[in-house]
Amino acid sequence: MEACTHQTKPFLRLDSIDFSYYGNLGEIKVLENINLTVEKGEFVVLVGPSGCGKSTILSLISGLLTPVNGFITFYSEDFAAPRIGYMLQHDHLLEWRDVYHNIMLGLEIQKSKTPENLALVDALLEKYNLSGFKRQKPSALSGGMRQRIALIRTLATRPDLLLLDEPFSALDYQTRLMVSGDVRSIIKSEQKTAILVTHDISEAISLGDVVFVLTKSPCRIKDAIPIEFEKNGIPRSEIRSAKLFQEYFDEIWREIQDENTDL
Ligand code: ADP
Ligand code: MG
Repeated sequence: MEACTHQTKPFLRLDSIDFSYYGNLGEIKVLENINLTVEKGEFVVLVGPSGCGKSTILSLISGLLTPVNGFITFYSEDFAAPRIGYMLQHDHLLEWRDVYHNIMLGLEIQKSKTPENLALVDALLEKYNLSGFKRQKPSALSGGMRQRIALIRTLATRPDLLLLDEPFSALDYQTRLMVSGDVRSIIKSEQKTAILVTHDISEAISLGDVVFVLTKSPCRIKDAIPIEFEKNGIPRSEIRSAKLFQEYFDEIWREIQDENTDL
């Protein structure tokens, strides 16, 4: 047990968040009393049915939207605003730039092509065996490879937090399995904190350190399930065939069904 004085501090907290969209038909209440804590270095997954409010939660965290009620708090040692990197369903790679210059895009926009950052890009390409693809155009690459490049582009800007909004949902099943595992291990290896949203229960279980189960209309947090394969002596390469995987699946499935929603 850790001594109380060495307790890990939260990295991010959402406290009692309510959110509504206002349109022609009046108020549409989307989020109700969302509470969650993210630790530094944690890979958090929010799983819930389509349209329940997952992207809205990410927009609130990134500051694109403001909650109607509640607080969003980032804990940083230097009180600087956190740098947030997004990864989306579509990789948004530009066809008229080669892989290297696509990766440079974030740094160019931030005007931060410093020698340190250029060295980081080279190191990331090298470490993840992508150096050989630098001069390729995006159209020459598979969907899975394109998402890896999109992740490296995001990491090049040294984000404190990665927000992943269903980044694998456009990929075919086989590719999705492989790339999602790769993306998790790159994020872990770079010691980044990440929040991924998905409607895919298997993806949630295979990627998350903790899975928050969300309900529909208005979206609430039904449960928070720690995913503990390592603690149970199951290596990551074997999680999908483990009995525990099925148990997590059944538990989450039941919780979502209870709400009478369809995924
Ligand atoms: P998810 O990402 O889980 O699919 P969203 O966060 O995109 O869900 O949307 C949650 C709900 O809010 C949906 O019912 C959607 O139709 C509605 N919604 C999303 N964006 C807007 C908007 N700009 N104006 C009005 N309603 C919106
Ligand atoms: Mg969404």
